[in-house]
Amino acid sequence: MHIDGMFLGGGNEVGRLGVLLQVDGSKILFDYGITASDPPKYPMPSPPIDMMLLTHSHLDHSGMIPWLTSRYDMPVVSTAVSREVGLMLMQDSVKIAEAEGYPQPYNSNDVRVAAHRFDEIRFGDTVSVGKMRIATHSAGHIPGATMYEMQGKRSTLLTGDIHTLDTRLVTGAKPVKCDNLIMESTYSGRNHPNRQKVEDSFIKKIEEITNRGGTVVIPSFAVGRTQEILLILRDSGLEFWLDGMGKTVNKIYLRFPEYVRSGKKLRQAILRTHEVRNMHARTRALGGDVIVTTSGMLDGGPALSYIDSIRNDPKSAILLTGYQVEGSNGSKLLETGMLEFQGVNEKINCEVMKFDFSAHAGHDDLMAFAKGCSPQKIVLMHGDNREILAGDLRAQGFEVMLPMNGEKWTI
Ligand SMILES: [Zn+2]
Ligand SMILES: [Zn+2]
Repeated sequence: MHIDGMFLGGGNEVGRLGVLLQVDGSKILFDYGITASDPPKYPMPSPPIDMMLLTHSHLDHSGMIPWLTSRYDMPVVSTAVSREVGLMLMQDSVKIAEAEGYPQPYNSNDVRVAAHRFDEIRFGDTVSVGKMRIATHSAGHIPGATMYEMQGKRSTLLTGDIHTLDTRLVTGAKPVKCDNLIMESTYSGRNHPNRQKVEDSFIKKIEEITNRGGTVVIPSFAVGRTQEILLILRDSGLEFWLDGMGKTVNKIYLRFPEYVRSGKKLRQAILRTHEVRNMHARTRALGGDVIVTTSGMLDGGPALSYIDSIRNDPKSAILLTGYQVEGSNGSKLLETGMLEFQGVNEKINCEVMKFDFSAHAGHDDLMAFAKGCSPQKIVLMHGDNREILAGDLRAQGFEVMLPMNGEKWTI
């Protein structure tokens, strides 16, 4: 048995992933996402397929599902938590496209139709497509993130986005023995600093700012990162506020505590969080210690209005908690010290710092994970710098493939 594969997107880049595999006459699509850049980037159109399997809710993996379900009749396999968060992000992407005037691959009605096409799986379940059986494992990246293991004479593991170390929110992914490994490679060539040290310096920095009378604004991705930050703040004596889409994600995660490392701790963290529910509360939040808010890359959301209030106060600070993609407002801030507010560039005079709370495995973690899976062949995906990891894996005796988007490959 062999597998014919093609990346419709997300092979040699981080974003818009679509992995089309043909096995035993069945066509399967793993993930189908968009890159939420300005303007968004879409993957190549998918042909009709027998089944779509979703690894997790982030838009670069899920964002094209309504396009697919409005054209073809097949189930979308996913954990319940990925479905709920994914549908929320898809509806939000329709709103953003309308507001920004982007061409839209689907409308909000298509998202409602997509909602009825999901088939729920839990970790440990297996699904069947034709003669093929596919097992599911936790990917450790965000709650509900799934690795898929295609079983048979030769087994193939597809990781989606993975994190192998335990974070506050999720337990790390464990290697699965397989013959072929299709693995993400976002952090090829880069390692993360020790997480405990990052947390310690993060809390120390916040305390330093509040002790000098400043306010801390923490721009944070709504899905995963916001909850990780709230879990860290839970143990501090600080008064912390939350605004933006992270509030909705909190509610969804509380409904699915089985996908969180400690549902009890997450509940406690959310109970300690002051939610901003109206404009009046925004003023009160600015009088507290910390405001956690979307968007993580400062391209919209309430974050900009909070920053507008503190940007000329050298006692206050912006603490970035995620990757700032090139071209985003957040990367402009890091490179030039300026931020764009409704088309106008303004100088930022408060303190700005960045902390690494990544939910992806670093280079050495990916090496250890691959060794633990001990495959013969490895296909690297979801990376714009795959060669460094490929080189290190080849030096360990693995056969490594780096297909480009649109290129046909066989394993
Ligand atoms: Zn992701
Ligand atoms: Zn991703």
